[in-house]
This record gives sequence, structure tokens and C-alpha cells, in this order.
Amino acid sequence: MTLSLRIPPSHWTAMRACLQRGGIREIGGWLAAEQLAPGVFELIGFTVDFEVGTHNRFASLPATHSEQLDKILNENAGRKGRIDYLGEWHSHPTFPPVPSDIDVAAMTKMVEDSGPSFATLLIVRMLGAAVLEATITTFQRDMPSEHSQLIIDHDHQSGFLLGMDSTNKNEGQN
Ligand SMILES: [Zn+2]
Repeated sequence: MTLSLRIPPSHWTAMRACLQRGGIREIGGWLAAEQLAPGVFELIGFTVDFEVGTHNRFASLPATHSEQLDKILNENAGRKGRIDYLGEWHSHPTFPPVPSDIDVAAMTKMVEDSGPSFATLLIVRMLGAAVLEATITTFQRDMPSEHSQLIIDHDHQSGFLLGMDSTNKNEGQN
């Protein structure tokens, strides 16, 4: 199943502000999404930790993010679709926004072990003051990881450069 994740422009704007604040330090957190249809999700918010990352490592600590996630879920409780944790995001401020071997190993371990049976990893970096490059990779239990479709409102597309044309980039990395 190929998952698609729509990220409303307001969330890109908020994430860009976080990246600017994070500087050359990796930042990130958890993604919260509403399921609109089977395999179709819309981002409703994300948690962020500015403290734990280094220039090339980021780890999301549950204690930091679960409280922020609960707040997002509470604020969106009126939505029709199921709302829940969808996965993780972090920045690669100094190298391309594709999952590192460590990223792949961590996500694979999560879905293969005790965590959710699928999870998305969004990786972003700034290419300039207003340009954001992003990839989304979905990890599913007992299946190879795959790039997901990224949908941005066409009315607000300017200023964003998407690195989503990399259909086969992850082949063989599992
Ligand atoms: Zn990474």
C-alpha cells in the first residue's frame, strides 16, 4: 500500500520556522495525522525538540513528544477521520534529506518490533531562506520501505522544492 500524506501549507510554514531556529542542529519529532481514507493521511500537527539533536544525529525521546502529541490530538478531536501518531520527522541541515542507514535501521526496528505496524519518516532541509526540500519514506512491517506521495496545495506551492521524484531511490536499502 502506498501511503499519501497531505501537508497543509500552514504546517510547512511552521516547520520552516523550526528549521530556521534549529540552524545546523538536527531537530525533529513526531507526526500526527488524520486518516481521510485507507492509506490517505493529512498532517494535523507535529512535535518538535530543539535540544537533543547534534549536527548529524537526532533522537526523539518519548517523554518530550508524547505530551506535545496528546495536545495536538486533543485539539483535533473533532475531526471525522481517525487521528493518531503517523511517524517521525527530522531535519538534515547539512546533508541531503534522505534517510541515513541509521534512520532506516531505527524505523525498521520500530515497525518490526513493538511499535506501530507502519510509520512514516519525513526528512526536511532548508535550501535557502524560503526553499524546503523534503522526502517521505514509509516503513511497513514485513514489507520493503517506499517513498510516499507528498501533496502540497497548488495555491501555495511557490517557495517549496520537493525531492519526491526519486521513485527508486530507496531500492535495495532494506
Ligand atoms: Zn536522519
